[in-house]
Amino acid sequence: MTGDIRWHPGSADAALRARCAGQRGLTVWLTGLSGAGKSTIAVAAERALLEKGCLAMRLDGDNLRHGLNAGVGFDEAGRAEAVRRAGEAALLLAECGAVAIVAMISPYRADRDRVRARHAEAGIPFLEAFVDVPLAVAESRDPKGLYAKARRGEIAGFTGIDAPYEAPVSAELHLRTGLDTAESCVAALVAGTISASRGA
Ligand code: ADP
Repeated sequence: MTGDIRWHPGSADAALRARCAGQRGLTVWLTGLSGAGKSTIAVAAERALLEKGCLAMRLDGDNLRHGLNAGVGFDEAGRAEAVRRAGEAALLLAECGAVAIVAMISPYRADRDRVRARHAEAGIPFLEAFVDVPLAVAESRDPKGLYAKARRGEIAGFTGIDAPYEAPVSAELHLRTGLDTAESCVAALVAGTISASRGA
């Protein structure tokens, strides 16, 4: 209970929703440096899952900042709030039976762990996918020109340059985009997602 606001229990449960949706919902959370390949992999994985008949919905960190996370800052507190909101949105989608694919730098381990804990409380699987690339490779890709801006001092608090990135310690999936092709990273993500969705 939060103050005078009480939790109103429902009479439907995850099993009933899963029967209706024909699948068990879960969240796949892609975390990594800017330029690591999160969005690229999430876009292709969403498409591949849908084409296989698996209902999937992508929540891209940048896109969320146009709506759900509009006005939220990029400092530590802002990032925590952006991750919390994305996590809650993903949880709702997953509770409804969809595969929620979140692509978000989400640089702080504690923020990601809170989302994991919220999923555990709700009995919804949470797969953390570490989109792993050396900083030098991400910076050489610089798909949005943001590293160049950060190096010029035009962006403050840029992850990997003047703000930390805390890598996962026990991610369910580890995608090394500096070594493996985008196609094989997508295939690994899709395979891991489908087996978790079936096994859940
Ligand atoms: P992020 O969402 O992590 O900021 P993007 O997906 O926007 O990163 O950009 C990653 C860039 O790296 C894209 O230009 C993509 O084509 C390229 N890239 C090279 N190899 C890979 C790979 N194995 N997986 C994903 N992206 C890759």
